[in-house]
Amino acid sequence: GKKKKDIRRVQVYDCRPGSSNELPRKFNITDEDYNGFQCALRKEFSVPPDETFIVSTTDREEITEDIYKLLLDGKTLQLLESVHQMLPTATQERIEYQPHYHTLVQCGMYEYYASEGQEALPYAFAELIDNALSATRNNIGIRRIEIRLLFDESQGGPAIVVMDNGCGMTSKQLKNWAVYRLSKFIRDNTAFTSQEPGYVRPNPVPRSLNSDISYFGVGGKQAVFYIGQSVRMISKPASSPDVHEFIMSKEEFERKERDREDIYSGFIRNRMPGDSSHVNSSEELFLVPIVNEEVGKDSFTAVVITRLQQAHITYLKQHFTLWTRELAHTYHYYIHGINGNSLREMRVNDSSNNIDIQICLFEKPNRIPRLINLRDVNNDMQTLYIRSSVSTFEFKATGPKDLLVEGLVRYHPFLYDQETYPLDPYSASTEKEDDDCMVVNPEGRGKRPIFECYWNGRLIPYTTVSEFKWCEKPKKTDVVPWECYNRISGVLFANDRFEVSTNKLTFMDLELQLREKATIFTRVNNGQEQRVNIEKEFTSWLEECHVQFDKQVMFLGFL
Ligand code: ATP
Ligand code: MG
Repeated sequence: GKKKKDIRRVQVYDCRPGSSNELPRKFNITDEDYNGFQCALRKEFSVPPDETFIVSTTDREEITEDIYKLLLDGKTLQLLESVHQMLPTATQERIEYQPHYHTLVQCGMYEYYASEGQEALPYAFAELIDNALSATRNNIGIRRIEIRLLFDESQGGPAIVVMDNGCGMTSKQLKNWAVYRLSKFIRDNTAFTSQEPGYVRPNPVPRSLNSDISYFGVGGKQAVFYIGQSVRMISKPASSPDVHEFIMSKEEFERKERDREDIYSGFIRNRMPGDSSHVNSSEELFLVPIVNEEVGKDSFTAVVITRLQQAHITYLKQHFTLWTRELAHTYHYYIHGINGNSLREMRVNDSSNNIDIQICLFEKPNRIPRLINLRDVNNDMQTLYIRSSVSTFEFKATGPKDLLVEGLVRYHPFLYDQETYPLDPYSASTEKEDDDCMVVNPEGRGKRPIFECYWNGRLIPYTTVSEFKWCEKPKKTDVVPWECYNRISGVLFANDRFEVSTNKLTFMDLELQLREKATIFTRVNNGQEQRVNIEKEFTSWLEECHVQFDKQVMFLGFL
């Protein structure tokens, strides 16, 4: 706090009626010296001995001896004849308006809670995976991303650790990590010894799987403060032998506020890899092995989240398969490559297929942890769509300013006695299905939207596109039976020219942009763009699918 002998500076305007002093004068004050201050004022502003005056704040609070002691450095005061007189000339007071630390601590909560009542926790993890994907994009070998849920409390915690073997952060980059809204577009990347270029937009790649998913400068902070109340960032860039470590927590913010310290400041610890001498509380025992693992790693980042919300812990344990499946869905094309998780092609030797995202749940001491590699998830919706489809119609939409969407429609045929369009086995509407009858799917897609939407290759979960003019059910169908329009699903891959919300849960205006007159759809067949009428092409593709793949059995005479 403020110490007794602290010297503070105030500035005082002479505001007595008729005064012509327009500039303030500066005074150094200390607590003991109220009378001295009064004398100094009288002298400085040449107030005659027989004239009385008062000093007030800019809110016209009179500075008595008691209030005098409470004055803060930098305060503006007004010398007046009386408390309520008019100001002969205007005065000004410098103010600071740093955002409250709740900007950080509560950002996650409002960003994610406000979203449609769906369980948003997987998407908070997605932000951390986004960062890890960005960080590992230039890895030569495997890109390893690991989420560890350390719920075995005999080791301290509970804690959640997200680790990657990406490029890590220099201490300057770690400092920039902490700055809310400091996006890659406006960051200063220069160092004393190097002039790193500013942001360079990556070259276009198929389906925009460019790993360039960091965008706003908020995701990491939002995610950790949604999941918990404290984060320890541990990172080592390849360029340095040192590990950099930084803690940001609600507790620390509260302490700084109490002690009147600068809210948005703190310390980065620079240390040797493997040095855990700073870990001393039993609450953080789980950190020791994590720090030990640092030895021998060229570069890495570990995000350690603690003070977890109990409800989250319960959810993560109870719905382990559900939320990991959602992550597999979100990163489907990063994990499996541009053709997705199909059975047909062996993707083992695909070099784009080097992303390992692993999730590990430690619950009880001496119990084998639950472990899932997202690559092994075979029931996420994209996998189900891919594996139940028999034909694909590919297209492309281009618009002004490099706007690009690659898209595809898949056909799920009617086979024998049922639709094969896959339904989400976990979705609320299918769960309500009666126990005594099988989950049947009489209508295929029904009223569900056709398209799921990906941005830079990553699912934007709350935005779907129902249809486009050229693939919607026509008013009257002469060529293709209307049920066939219920046998299609689709995916859109938008590039970075489309905008998403800061929580990456929704697109801002994907559908609107695509409906613009300037947006041109073309069919893509075997990689070749075809400048033809897309509606015609689509209809004939659909008809072909129907003729070739729908197989209906009719049971006769079994009454
Ligand atoms: P967005 O709001 O889209 O997530 P962002 O990724 O820039 O944008 P944060 O997620 O808060 O925002 O991360 C801030 C910055 O910290 C990143 O841009 C990146 O430079 C750095 N960073 C975050 N996580 C990692 C990581 N795992 N490895 C290396 N650098 C990281
Ligand atoms: Mg991010």
